[in-house]
Amino acid sequence: MTIGVLALQGDVREHAAAFGALGESVRLVVGPEDLAGLSGLVLPGGESTTLSLLLESSGLFDPLGEVLGNGLPAFGTCAGMILLAGTVLDGRVDQRRFGVIDLTIRRNGYGRQAASFECDVEVSGLGADPLHAVFIRAPVVEGCGPGVEVLATLPDACERGSPVHVEPLTDRPGHHRPVVCRQGPVLVAAFHPELTGDRRLHQMFVEMTKEERR
Ligand code: GLN
Repeated sequence: MTIGVLALQGDVREHAAAFGALGESVRLVVGPEDLAGLSGLVLPGGESTTLSLLLESSGLFDPLGEVLGNGLPAFGTCAGMILLAGTVLDGRVDQRRFGVIDLTIRRNGYGRQAASFECDVEVSGLGADPLHAVFIRAPVVEGCGPGVEVLATLPDACERGSPVHVEPLTDRPGHHRPVVCRQGPVLVAAFHPELTGDRRLHQMFVEMTKEERR
């Protein structure tokens, strides 16, 4: 089985190295011909507006939308999360998205580059040890559809820097500031799991690709 990493822009090498370290075979995806036979696809962090433009110019947007619509497991981190969401706030007007996870996302919702921060988050399904999470111009989840499972939320205290005030979710009381979510075969994180040595979220995605194949 082969995990694809969308390789147009952003943290491509880091994701490829993470799956490589887990013993998975990895294919860099740069055009429609790279989509055949993948067991899952990672959409890395970077810049969602640029990724949207590059997805169009490479001819990948529509074929990728089709395989995602047919249930290909996907793991979107930061900008990748924005691309997978149903609704994007504060995006470019021409920015496109795949709409395979029922989230409303606000780009740069925690603030700009200088407001980047790090935090330990507890992720349901990853055991008791928290995951160290790096947030860089991170997106905020402002709405969560009924089919979305919230696997982690941001704690109030963060190690470095503190996020701007974010309004509590009205459609999901008790799930203030979700940062890891799943809906069926789609997993998203608002931070950059590829930038730390902890591979548990990547491992969770590998398990999801195996579930889909059963
Ligand atoms: N703010 C970026 C965007 O809109 C995402 C930042 C990131 O991936 N670190 O795409």
